[in-house]
Amino acid sequence: MTRLALIAHDDEKPEMIDLAETYESLLSTFDLIGTGTTGKRVAEATGLTVERKESGPIGGDAQIAAEVAEDRLDGIIFLRDPLTAQPHEPDISALLRICDVHDTPLATTRTTAEYVLNGLAADTETMD
Ligand code: PGA
Repeated sequence: MTRLALIAHDDEKPEMIDLAETYESLLSTFDLIGTGTTGKRVAEATGLTVERKESGPIGGDAQIAAEVAEDRLDGIIFLRDPLTAQPHEPDISALLRICDVHDTPLATTRTTAEYVLNGLAADTETMD
């Protein structure tokens, strides 16, 4: 099953919820994980099941990076707030780096998120 991680900085959480609502039927066919608050908010808004890691600032990004290192993830949607400094910037940089190392698709904006979702959907159809 396609395994996708969802992460959104605070300013971007409404966008993530809107995205999850728009793509709910596709996402319901995926195995979803997320950082603590993002996962909770998406699950509450949509009814999707999201395996929740720790909140980003206390290690959730690092836990998701570990899954990338183990090739367990097919993609990440990480809606970042580019205008606000984050206390866990080192963990975020490490996550971006490990995605590059493993060629794991990583979307950081709404538009790239939609491209990744459509790409994963096409991959899923090919696998059937
Ligand atoms: P959160 O973490 O979903 O727990 O807010 C996101 C982040 O800041 O990486």
